[in-house]
Amino acid sequence: MTPASDLSLEGYCGPSLWLRALPSPTLPPAQTTNHYLVGDARAVLVDPATPGRRAQAELKTWLEQARAAGIEVVALLLTHHHRDHVGAAEFLRHTMGLPIWAHSATAALLAGKLPVDRAIGDGEVVASNRDGSAWQAWHTPGHAPGHLALWHAPSQQAVVGDLVAGEGTILIDPSDGHMGQYLASLQRIADLQPRVLAPAHGALQHQAVELLDHYRRHRLAREAAVLQALTADFCEPADLLPSAYADVPRTVWPLALRSLVTHLIYLQEQGLATHANQRWRRA
Ligand SMILES: [Zn+2]
Repeated sequence: MTPASDLSLEGYCGPSLWLRALPSPTLPPAQTTNHYLVGDARAVLVDPATPGRRAQAELKTWLEQARAAGIEVVALLLTHHHRDHVGAAEFLRHTMGLPIWAHSATAALLAGKLPVDRAIGDGEVVASNRDGSAWQAWHTPGHAPGHLALWHAPSQQAVVGDLVAGEGTILIDPSDGHMGQYLASLQRIADLQPRVLAPAHGALQHQAVELLDHYRRHRLAREAAVLQALTADFCEPADLLPSAYADVPRTVWPLALRSLVTHLIYLQEQGLATHANQRWRRA
């Protein structure tokens, strides 16, 4: 076995971190999901996302090259259950014998669709490096209940899934997202003082702490705008769009409406809004 030089495998993007972006059914304008190989001794693939046959074959070849370079690829790790993150999981599990690892909440949401072989809890070591250091999983819910981020303390790198986006935006959908948890997860990763964020879509982000703060401030400003738009009279969520999302193009309003409802639910939890028959007013 030849020791892996970091550069001997295509896609090197940081210490013990490699990246391959491949097509996925994601939210436009993004068209790809990043596949990260994490760890230079015992490695995991985060996320096995691409659904197309050709791209899957390409991904498999890449993992075989990693193995030939001396990296032991041990599992497929899902940051969360969304369809643009899991499209190659079944294929790689079947053809390469790689188990699927995910948070138990992700496993529950995928039940009957995709088997999860090992539940990963907060703080668990999921990959390791030749220097003995480890990559840990952090439970970072909000975008999805079982969302995981990976953290390597020595290099201050965080693989953050859909916590932030290098391209496009992050939707916190009322069906499976939670704004309060999302804000807390952004803060939790910021508190680690990361140097680099590796998102699931778009380029690596090098102004890491600034970007996490920007995301948090942006969501809090939106929450304030939604609260401002509410009155003492009940109204439909869509009635709040013109004032709360005045800065957003109308073409994006269908998505904005989903986000707005997520904000309303969080305002209700804070005792600031109340609703009846899908209509909302100030509490
Ligand atoms: Zn997602």
